[in-house]
Amino acid sequence: MTHPTITIALAGNPNSGKTTIFNAITGTRQKVGNWPGVTVEKKEGLVHRHGYDLKIVDLPGTYSLTPFSIEEIVARNFILDESPDVVIDIIDTSNLERSLYLATQLRELDCKVVFALNMMDMADARGLKIDAHKLSELLDLPVVLTVGNRQKGIDDLLAAAVELALSGTPPQQKRKVRYNQEVEKAIDALQRYLTTHIGAALPYHPRWIAIKLIEDDAIIKERLTAIAGDGFAALLEATQKQRAFLQDRFNDDPEIVTTDERYGFITGIVKEVLTTSPLERVDISRNIDLVLTNRFVGMPIFFFFIWAMFQLTFTVGAFPQDWIEHLFGLLAAGVGYLLPPGWIEDLLLDGIISGVGTVGVFLPNILLLFFCIALFEDTGYMARAAFLMDKIMHLVGLHGKSFIPMLMGFGCNVPAIMAARTLESKTDRILTILITPFMSCSAKLPVYIVLAGGFFGARAGTVIFGIYLAGIVLSILTGRLFRTLLFRGADAPFVMELPPYRVPMLKSLLIHMWDRSKMFLKRMGGVILVGSIIIWVLANFPQAPELRQAQVQESARLEAQFQSEWQAAEQSRRPEIEARHAQALNALSQRTKSEQAARSFLGRLGQALEPVFRPIGVDWRGGIALLSGFVAKEIVVSTLGVLYAVTDDPQANALESALRAAGMTPLTALSMMVFVLLYLPCLATVAAIRRETGSTGWMFFSIAYTTSVAWLMAFLVYQGGRLLGLG
Ligand code: GDP
Ligand code: MG
Repeated sequence: MTHPTITIALAGNPNSGKTTIFNAITGTRQKVGNWPGVTVEKKEGLVHRHGYDLKIVDLPGTYSLTPFSIEEIVARNFILDESPDVVIDIIDTSNLERSLYLATQLRELDCKVVFALNMMDMADARGLKIDAHKLSELLDLPVVLTVGNRQKGIDDLLAAAVELALSGTPPQQKRKVRYNQEVEKAIDALQRYLTTHIGAALPYHPRWIAIKLIEDDAIIKERLTAIAGDGFAALLEATQKQRAFLQDRFNDDPEIVTTDERYGFITGIVKEVLTTSPLERVDISRNIDLVLTNRFVGMPIFFFFIWAMFQLTFTVGAFPQDWIEHLFGLLAAGVGYLLPPGWIEDLLLDGIISGVGTVGVFLPNILLLFFCIALFEDTGYMARAAFLMDKIMHLVGLHGKSFIPMLMGFGCNVPAIMAARTLESKTDRILTILITPFMSCSAKLPVYIVLAGGFFGARAGTVIFGIYLAGIVLSILTGRLFRTLLFRGADAPFVMELPPYRVPMLKSLLIHMWDRSKMFLKRMGGVILVGSIIIWVLANFPQAPELRQAQVQESARLEAQFQSEWQAAEQSRRPEIEARHAQALNALSQRTKSEQAARSFLGRLGQALEPVFRPIGVDWRGGIALLSGFVAKEIVVSTLGVLYAVTDDPQANALESALRAAGMTPLTALSMMVFVLLYLPCLATVAAIRRETGSTGWMFFSIAYTTSVAWLMAFLVYQGGRLLGLG
């Protein structure tokens, strides 16, 4: 009876115990020679175990598979060209972090790998506790504990290797190093190039080749010369383009960037599986992490950063805000001067300029917010934030990785919901998508700035921070609720990459900031413009001509009164009279507009819905503004502007004084902010939810749930505040 032979290669760092294990398996039946062409010792042994002939090959000991030394080249070529059925990676468990570098590279090679956690006795002696089960889950490969020099675990190791060799499952694409966005983009581009131009002739997995090209791997390039033929020059050029792009973004060689990222992946794994970490190589990143991810101070520091971000967004952003407001004021004055009075002028002034203008002034705030988010991402702090939130997220039944979509939700919910794609399990993904809308997006910021700025003065930054915090807390509570009611079962295991800290490059920060702010500008010109026009039309029709007439009469009366007073007055008192007159005219026009709004389609709808909004302290105008936010949240502000008939007077804080005059108090402002924080996601987000969950049911569920929670919370705030006598 003959058996198929299974080839098993032993890989590992020097001194990890490879030869010891090799000897333990093969005993004396071994051949020693040199690898063909090079003088590196080659050991091969044939044994019969578990019903199969096993050919065991002891590869040279290496720390990596980057072909710098002859040992590394020999080891890599063997795996690439001889395709052993299984590679056993022998790991010095007492040196886990260093050993894992080779492991991640083996993982990338798409071969079947078994981990031998060797030197377990040494690890125990040093007080290191390793969660082998978790490690196995995280990397999605079998892990066996061994003590080579006492022949412990050797049989289990062979059994695991044989089982893996026989299993039909191809190596998983998942659970490998994911590089950062920029690197992944470059890999994708090259991979696409390779599949379209070389295709079936590719000797290895195209993703791997792409990574090696980005790392400028000489051996791979040489192999591709033969395969690509005439197309090789073009391939080199494509490679060079991606390398130059990365070099420019990171100001470092691409191979250094990918190495860093692998270490980031490894740091993440080690953090998850190793409980008492030894005092060894202490690098800068780790020192920083000792503080920033510390059990006690990490969280307060995280909240401080977020708080500082909002302070900065609010206070620094206020300066250019005045200038922009001024600019729109000038524009309005110009239009007013050029156009004869009539509905076209009204549409331009009150609909378009005031609508787009009330939103446009927030551009500086938005830019600053996105700048801060880019800063968190580029320094590597974002990953730490996710790491910090890991424990809290586990309470929800989610992994810290879900916190990244949530954090991105601060910018815009649409990419945030798309970012949930990185989650492997479908239930995790849906759960994350359902709780993300509670993360207050940047479009809601203008609403807070108007309301908090107008009613909370110097404490506005803190109030806004509190609102954001409330969003985080509610999304976590929601997660917990849904995990127990809708999605029972555990969360999928994950590796949380902790890339090394980097000093961010200003250019890259600005690019990230701009990429995202562009969306805001596009919305100003698109959805917000159209929304403002629609709201204006609905707020001005049907026209009530008697109102206009009354206004004309009243202003004629005021004019006459002014003329006589002015004539009679002494020279010195005349400026005061002029000012009073202008004010009276302004107030008249405001009154007329808001009367007109009350009788319009929008006004009637708002009044019909008033019973819904009354209990949360919002009048019909506020209610309409909230409804209009379904199109885009920024429109809430411009609708308020239209409905409270803010004058086109370029004086700052016009909307705030109009709101005060209409009887809004800090309590109602707070209730309204809470409602805006939580209620139904905007149109684009709703579409994203449908697309990413693949279900209209979840979409409607999300709309209904968020809106009910919003109403309930605003109700509690408003009625609670009134009970406490706050307004
Ligand atoms: P190689 O360089 O990977 O081939 O490593 P060797 O097999 O030569 O082993 C290096 C040293 O580690 C030798 O002295 C072995 O006896 C010792 N060794 C191997 N495995 C273990 C183990 O599990 N525990 C302990 N304490 N020592 C081991
Ligand atoms: Mg050896």
